[in-house]
Amino acid sequence: MKILVANLGSTSFKYRLFDMTDERLLARGGVERIGSPTSPCFVEANGVREVATVAARDHAVAVRLCLEQLAEPARGCLKDPGELAAIGFKAVHAQGVSGVQYVEERVLQAMEAYAEVAPAHNPPYIQTMRLLKRELPEIPLVAAFETGFHQTIPTAHRFYAIPHEWATELGVLRWGFHGASHRYIAGRAAQLLEKPDAKIISCHLGGSSSLCAIECGQSVANSLGMSPQTGLPHNNRVGDFDPFALPVIMRATGKTLEQVLDDLANRSGLLGLSGTSNDLRDIEEGAQRGEHRARLALEVFIGAVRHYLGAYLLLLNGADAIVFTGGIGENSAVMRAGICAHLDWFGIALDPGKNAAARGEAPLHTDQSRVALWIMPTNEEIVVARQAQALLQGNAPTK
Ligand code: ADP
Repeated sequence: MKILVANLGSTSFKYRLFDMTDERLLARGGVERIGSPTSPCFVEANGVREVATVAARDHAVAVRLCLEQLAEPARGCLKDPGELAAIGFKAVHAQGVSGVQYVEERVLQAMEAYAEVAPAHNPPYIQTMRLLKRELPEIPLVAAFETGFHQTIPTAHRFYAIPHEWATELGVLRWGFHGASHRYIAGRAAQLLEKPDAKIISCHLGGSSSLCAIECGQSVANSLGMSPQTGLPHNNRVGDFDPFALPVIMRATGKTLEQVLDDLANRSGLLGLSGTSNDLRDIEEGAQRGEHRARLALEVFIGAVRHYLGAYLLLLNGADAIVFTGGIGENSAVMRAGICAHLDWFGIALDPGKNAAARGEAPLHTDQSRVALWIMPTNEEIVVARQAQALLQGNAPTK
């Protein structure tokens, strides 16, 4: 069974094609600047990368083009475009819908109902899914929701202290996100530790960031809440915030609620703190030059990660492993060192040499550390492909 996992932007389509008989990555590729008469297009298969310019009027044209490229006999990834079993999507949020779902009108309407809760993700996905359903009706579309992995979070960590009907009728709950990434880390860490019931704290730190407490392969808490804007500071998104600051900001700036929410979603996080960049590489350079706001951004980010790390160590009654993943988690030795500093009371000891040299999947702890520390590059696409396969085979995973 061959499954294509799609990553959608408003003007881009990127994919990975898997052969699920052995979970082999057959090809990756994509089209950018969709809508322009000269859309750059690339495909990488059998170790060969080819780049071309195509005219992709919309996402459906781009997808069809990519499938034709994959079916070219020289490439041999698909016998013909019809061999594709499904396109899987890492979907974010929908009202009253989670788990793994065929993209049906009911699912699209539920995503539309939460478009304002996930403004960067839901609108481009809804638009493209509708277009593909119309233009490529022969291909099953499967949405694996980021909230699915977190359906095991117990009520104590799921409910906000709000009027109860907001939770039960409107779904205002701590849903949790980054499910595909944390699910991958849960499986991979248990495998590496050879311990299926391992207690793991997964730190996905990247453009958006979250911590997840995992026990016996299941999520028991996640730092993201009702929306992907909460928890840790993100690149442009605020993280945890007090809604009672809203009237103060609105009165002083004259901005509407929508404008302030837009500031909190697009001009906050690392960008708001540093005032210069949303990219940690720039911020680390700024801090080295002694820039006060860059240092502040690093301190606040590290402080927020340690806040949840402490909470999850308590929640799990200790941990077998703390795992770093995502663009920041995998690449920033400065962040990992800051997060793991002064944890000797917990028996957590980072080896500075291993931390500085680590690339790819690698342990970071000293021989004496009671808790294993790891970098593990995540693989969200294979998780989505596995979930889509399970749905197609009738195993109907609800989580
Ligand atoms: P996304 O969440 O959008 O998938 P990634 O997980 O790829 O993003 O993370 C991207 C972020 O990772 C960048 O914005 C940057 O802050 C950070 N990053 C990437 N490479 C490095 C690096 N070498 N050092 C420090 N931070 C890095």
